Amino acid sequence: MKCTLCGEQTVYVRQYDKLALCIRHFNEQMRKRVQKTITRYKMLGRKDRIAIGVSGGKDSIALLDIMSRIEKDFPESNLVAIIIDEGIENYRDEGLHFAKMNAKRLNIEHHVFSFKHDFGYDLDNIIEILGERGKDREYGACSYCGILRRKILNKAAKEVGADVLLTGHNLEDEAETVLLNIIRGDIQRLVRLDPKPRKIHHSLVPRAKPFRTTPQAEIVMYCYLNDLEYQEIPCPYAVEAYRGDVRDFIFKTQEKQPMLSFNIVRGLDKLLKLVNDIPTSKKMQDCTKCGEATASDLCRGCWLKDKVQSIKELK
Ligand SMILES: [Zn+2]
Ligand SMILES: [Zn+2]
Repeated sequence: MKCTLCGEQTVYVRQYDKLALCIRHFNEQMRKRVQKTITRYKMLGRKDRIAIGVSGGKDSIALLDIMSRIEKDFPESNLVAIIIDEGIENYRDEGLHFAKMNAKRLNIEHHVFSFKHDFGYDLDNIIEILGERGKDREYGACSYCGILRRKILNKAAKEVGADVLLTGHNLEDEAETVLLNIIRGDIQRLVRLDPKPRKIHHSLVPRAKPFRTTPQAEIVMYCYLNDLEYQEIPCPYAVEAYRGDVRDFIFKTQEKQPMLSFNIVRGLDKLLKLVNDIPTSKKMQDCTKCGEATASDLCRGCWLKDKVQSIKELK
C-alpha cells in the first residue's frame, strides 16, 4: 500500500479517514496536528516558559518529543519537564527512569518532585493508612493520587516559574472525561474542560492538553516509529479505577465508529461556544491552610492530609 500523500511505503492507515501514511508523513501529520491544536486554542505564547508533566508513559514521552521539535521555532520560549514520584513500589522507578532519560536525551531541563517530600507520605503509605477499598476507604487509589498529583504538579510548575503547564492527555482521555462528567451530571466540571488555558486563580498555573485531538493509537505508533522508550506496564492501582468501564466502552465502540472520540470532543467544543458567557466555575478562594486555590475553605490536598493524619493517630 502506498502513502496517500507521496506514494512511499505506508506504515499506518488512519481508521477515521482512511489516510495511508509513510513514516515521514505520519510524523509530519502528528506534529502538525499538535501545532494546530496549540494555535487554535491559544495554548501557548511566544515567550512562554512551558512546563510539561512527564510520567514516563507513552503520552508524556511523545509530547515531550514533539514539543521539543515545535519549540525550536520559538527561540524566546523554553521547556521544562516536571516529573512526579508518587511513591508506588515496583512500578514508579521504571517510569521515572524513562522520564529522566528522555528529558536528558532531548536536552530539556527537568525536575523531580515527590509525594513523600511534599506531602509527607507516598501513595503506598496513604493507601495503607486509609485501608481497604469499600470497607475503610471510600474511593479508588487513583482519586487520592489525582488530588495530590494535581496539587504537586501545580506547585512544581510555580516553583520552576512556568507560564503554562502541559499534560499528555490524549483524545480518548478527553472523551472519557467528558462522558464521566455527563454520567455524574457534573456540568460545572464539564464546562471547565475549556481547552484554552486560563488563569482562574492567582496560585493556579494555567493548563493545556496539546494531545486532546490526537488518538491514543497514533501516540503509540509515534513512539514506536521514533524509537521512543516509555513505561508500558500499567499502574498496579489502575484496577481500582471507575474510569475502566467508560474507557472500555469508548475503545469497544470505536472499533465500529472510528470518529466516536472526535465527535465527543468536538461536541464539547460546540457546547462551550454556547455557554461562553455563563460563569463556568464557582468562585475560587485561598485554602485556609496552604493558600492554594479551592472552592471551599480547605483544598482537597489539605483535606486528604488531615484525613490521613487523623486515621494514623487512631491506629
Ligand atoms: Zn508520504
Ligand atoms: Zn490547602
